[in-house]
Amino acid sequence: MTFASTRGAAPPLTLPEALVQGLAPDGGLYVPTGWPELKPEDFGGVLDLPAVAERLLAPFAAGTVLERSMPDIVREAFDFPAPRIPLPATAAGERLSVLELFHGPTAAFKDFGARFLAACLARLRAGSAGGDVQPLHILVATSGDTGGAVAAAFHGRPGFRVSVLFPKGLVSPTQERQLTCWGGNVRSYAVAGTFDDCQRMVKEAFLDPALAARHALSSANSINLGRLLPQAVYYAATSLGHLRTTGSPLSFIIPSGNLGNAAACIWARRMGLPIGEVILAHNANRTVPELLESGMYAPRTSVATIASAMDVGNPSNLERLRQMHPAIDSLRAAVRAMSVDDDAIRARIVADHARFGQVWCPHTAVAAEAWSRLSPEERHTHAWCLVATASPAKFPEVVEPLLRMKVPVPAALAELFDRPSSVAPLAASFAALRDAIEDAA
Ligand SMILES: *Cc1c(COP(=O)(O)O)cnc(C)c1O
Repeated sequence: MTFASTRGAAPPLTLPEALVQGLAPDGGLYVPTGWPELKPEDFGGVLDLPAVAERLLAPFAAGTVLERSMPDIVREAFDFPAPRIPLPATAAGERLSVLELFHGPTAAFKDFGARFLAACLARLRAGSAGGDVQPLHILVATSGDTGGAVAAAFHGRPGFRVSVLFPKGLVSPTQERQLTCWGGNVRSYAVAGTFDDCQRMVKEAFLDPALAARHALSSANSINLGRLLPQAVYYAATSLGHLRTTGSPLSFIIPSGNLGNAAACIWARRMGLPIGEVILAHNANRTVPELLESGMYAPRTSVATIASAMDVGNPSNLERLRQMHPAIDSLRAAVRAMSVDDDAIRARIVADHARFGQVWCPHTAVAAEAWSRLSPEERHTHAWCLVATASPAKFPEVVEPLLRMKVPVPAALAELFDRPSSVAPLAASFAALRDAIEDAA
């Protein structure tokens, strides 16, 4: 199996090559050049994540150096559960559930992708070592969950360094704690600028030939295939489990920003998994709902919302969806999209705590609100699964005042919160980042 760029002007690569490359040299994103055609029976009786992952991902690694280590890689990456919890029906005949993707080390779904990528890169580094290799230095600009998930996945791994750049004063105190609690081979920088400054500095570092000559630099952002492919696994396992007990497909409502999580779900459906409808639940950043309504794509600067991990005005993985569905009607047949503003998110957090006894994070609440906006008939004709992308304990500043209660902190997160914080200030310039990279080496 090879992977081609969405822009068609870069040579196809194998999985290991695409993982190391990240973004294609023509600026496109890597997508499979063909799809394994799978049937539910192909998975035998297995439903646990590592076993489903092994079956689902094997065709992509076949014939490469990763093929033999794939069973170990998936056992390492999928070592925490993704339970699906049924929710009480609010009307007769409704079948609603929530898929909790937040039981990993940093309590967000991004742990799956970050851990899979780290496990793959660790094997590739070890395999290519002909003696002393330079550590691979991962640069990550973050305004939320990505930095923590990537730091956790690479923390303590020999042969890797991580630098996390976040905009000083522009992330919540709870987020800042998750970005600065690492130490060891992870350095955190509070940049005197915006998220866009952080991203620009990282891009400039990748493009600087002098820096590239002295350091092995890499990115771990969500356009990397190694973060996307493993996300198809929980959709596969969950929909297979539903099929096993009910004989019917499962439809998903996915809180969406850069559309990586949604693209993985659509890939799983394309490979033959029993997935029905897919609804993209966006916050007030309406680019994608507007595209589906009008047929016109108008990317723009993002607006800040309380579901901040989805504040994206020009979603990068849309390119992967358009590659599968170039015509607007084909895209409309594949997905629907809704937009939910902050007031509706707040109201939904309060209403569903009363109705289901569930505490949603602001992102998950966007999906819950999208479900509430379906017609009663649509709620009856499909079994719907809300995708819970993060634990509410990561967003106490939003959730606690609304519910007037403390949100319990999961053990893994509590452990992170207890660690000493270490963070260095950084000017918002490439020169400052370059000096920091030299200093870390
Ligand atoms: C990153 C993130 C999202 C958005 O996921 P995409 O793959 O970018 O669409 C949603 N919710 C949470 C909690 C996130 O961290």
